[in-house]
Amino acid sequence: MPTLTSSSIVAAAGGSFLLETRTPAEVFTPEDLNEEQRQIAATAAQFAREEILPAAAAIEAKEPGVLASKLRKAAELGFTSVDIPEEYGGVGMNKVTSTLITDHISVLASFSTAFGAYIGIGTLPLVWYGTEEQKRRYLPRLASGEWIAAYSLSEASSGSDAMNVRTRATLSEDGSTYTLNGEKMWTTNCGFANLFTVFAKIVDPATGAEKFSAFLVERDTPGLTVGAEEHKLGIRGSSTCPLGLDGCKIPAGNLLGEAGKGHHIAFNVLNVGRFKLGVACIGGARHALAYMIRYAKERIAFGKPIAEFGLIQRKISASATRLYAAESMAYRTAGMIDAGLAQLSPELAHSPREMQRRIEEYAVECSILKVYGSEMLTLVADELIATMGGYGYVEHYPAERYYRDARINRIFEGTNEINRLIITGWLMKRALSGQLPLLPAIKKLMDEVMQPPSFDTGGDEGEVLAREAEVLAAAKKMALFAAGVASQRFMTGLQEQQEVMADLADIIMQVFGLESALLRARKLAGAGKGTAEAAGAMTGLLADETMGLAEQAARRVLAACAEGDLLRTQLAILRRLGRFTPADAVGLSRTVARHAIRLERYPV
Ligand SMILES: Cc1cc2nc3c(=O)[nH]c(=O)nc-3n(C[C@H](O)[C@H](O)[C@H](O)COP(=O)(O)OP(=O)(O)OC[C@H]3O[C@@H](n4cnc5c(N)ncnc54)[C@H](O)[C@@H]3O)c2cc1C
Repeated sequence: MPTLTSSSIVAAAGGSFLLETRTPAEVFTPEDLNEEQRQIAATAAQFAREEILPAAAAIEAKEPGVLASKLRKAAELGFTSVDIPEEYGGVGMNKVTSTLITDHISVLASFSTAFGAYIGIGTLPLVWYGTEEQKRRYLPRLASGEWIAAYSLSEASSGSDAMNVRTRATLSEDGSTYTLNGEKMWTTNCGFANLFTVFAKIVDPATGAEKFSAFLVERDTPGLTVGAEEHKLGIRGSSTCPLGLDGCKIPAGNLLGEAGKGHHIAFNVLNVGRFKLGVACIGGARHALAYMIRYAKERIAFGKPIAEFGLIQRKISASATRLYAAESMAYRTAGMIDAGLAQLSPELAHSPREMQRRIEEYAVECSILKVYGSEMLTLVADELIATMGGYGYVEHYPAERYYRDARINRIFEGTNEINRLIITGWLMKRALSGQLPLLPAIKKLMDEVMQPPSFDTGGDEGEVLAREAEVLAAAKKMALFAAGVASQRFMTGLQEQQEVMADLADIIMQVFGLESALLRARKLAGAGKGTAEAAGAMTGLLADETMGLAEQAARRVLAACAEGDLLRTQLAILRRLGRFTPADAVGLSRTVARHAIRLERYPV
């Protein structure tokens, strides 16, 4: 049996999945984890099981100190210092390891939100942009759990419109201190965090010029006040409060990065925030799915366990399938980041700038993971309630909490609306700048579709999952065709056509999801893994879903761009691209469910 190896992982260009084809060996999947990483995953899962789940009620009731103490316990095991370099007290591991910790620790959304805000958006600004002195001062405390971090960007009047903050910073005449005035909203971990990355505009008193910047603000700074906890729909155990800054004086040395460059910090860090959020959704969904399956096996109706009913099996398989796609995308992306860093010299590989550059390269994949992961979790939580009937709806069982908790993931770290705009906008920007050869690919495709149909399906007959490969090739063409028509019609005004941008983003997301799933299923099949059958069946289900969603979205794009004969011609081309043989979705769903029910968990 060939062993799975990660040495051949390719650091493909961000967004290039739309244009290029990859082999299974070129993408990282969870099966490529080495022994040490598997051990770390098992320790994170054990911590979640033994420390977080038993404290769930206390955390949800916001019993004082419980959540913070669990974060500190996670720190003792090194989980909070995985992204902090060793010279500052961290354990400085690669992105795959960081991904699997977030994945396996995420069984309770209140905890995973606090954890993500602390180790991701709270700590990374300092790791990436801090001066030597700032890092020496703060990072060892954050790594050890002595201090907890938070990120304060949003305000009452600026959430999505993040640069429009009203908080102001004024430099003293002698240049020694900044005075901050304003009020931040929605700061996660606010109730107990010790260090805040606060975004404010520096005002030049002479010219009135404003520079959007970031600052490190310690909790006990005079003038800093923490407002009352918000009463939320979900993640009730997490802390979310306003942060008041009233004449708050901080040393000038606590300016983070350069004055006027705060947007680089805010947005680069959000790429990681989005990635980690998607990964936390995967962990949460895996946990919810296992619960769904166990419940379905125990609940008897009409004389048998409801797990034997086809419609319950379909809930299990639909949940597992989306989870499989999200998981495959997440580890593939983490692997690409690590592969890119591995190509650098050892000094550069640990350079914060390089780390940032590699992650920024995958901004589109990070946004996809955020949107897809959060919507996948919503589906899983909903199917869990459906599986449990009335019991799903009452507080005594965790399903209603999963359902409430899932909703926030579509709001923070950039709403899913904003992230859909980012996905298409980022790709178009790269295309226009020539960084991604999207425009030549669109032109080639446009020329090709105007020719009589060829019999080249783009698939690879005889290969495992050849039908799915064919669907993937067609979906990629649909994405390029719809993008080509839309950019010809609207040119640079495409940004203003948000509905079209979002439809294109949906097709692009499906392509990335299906390709990641397909490559992983082929890798499993090639290695003769027992999980290959379930992975293949889920890939089959995804292929049908991709074709349905992509064709529908592309049709809307075309109809928004043309009318009359032109539209009819374009629709005929779309129909040609969308011609495929549907799978036996009922059979595939039963196959996935059979494996999941036997294992009592997600079947890969
Ligand atoms: C529990 C919780 C925790 C949070 N934690 C943090 C934190 O730790 N740090 C932090 O800085 N922030 C945090 N936030 C804030 C969060 O990031 C914002 O709520 C989010 O970015 C949305 O901003 P908003 O609430 O102002 O909504 P708005 O920006 O007003 O958006 C309202 C609606 O309009 C849509 N919209 C806005 N602009 C556009 C556009 N250009 N095109 C199309 N649609 C648009 C949005 O998608 C949304 O549907 C948190 C929020 C919550 C609820």
